[in-house]
Amino acid sequence: MYSVTKRIDFCYGHRLLDHDGVCRHLHGHNAVVEIEARTAALDTRNMVVDFGDIKRIVKTWIDAQIDHKTILRHDDPLVAPLQALGEPVFVIDSNPTAERIARLIFDVSRDQGLPVVRVTVWETPTSCATYSAA
Ligand SMILES: [Zn+2]
Repeated sequence: MYSVTKRIDFCYGHRLLDHDGVCRHLHGHNAVVEIEARTAALDTRNMVVDFGDIKRIVKTWIDAQIDHKTILRHDDPLVAPLQALGEPVFVIDSNPTAERIARLIFDVSRDQGLPVVRVTVWETPTSCATYSAA
């Protein structure tokens, strides 16, 4: 199999509900996302997929939807007041952990037709979470 990996940086805020540690408080991360695409054969350009295509599709979505946004669980009491103050909020069904953000980006990438097999979200330089196809 051939494999390519693209890194994309973005910033986000979040907090984890029903959590016993410091992550229950609103805070932010400078995240690094790794998007790995894999194919058995190369295309006519001898590529798995052009790095520019991954950037155009995934970075465009990240920039528009979650970069410099606060990612919150749908029932977080902060959703309504932040929205009322005009702060950008991205609401998801579950706690906005690095695992769930990886899954979110994985699903968006697949929906856009990229042969993505793994998305890793580095929340800090020493901590990452991965969602992969298998
Ligand atoms: Zn955090």
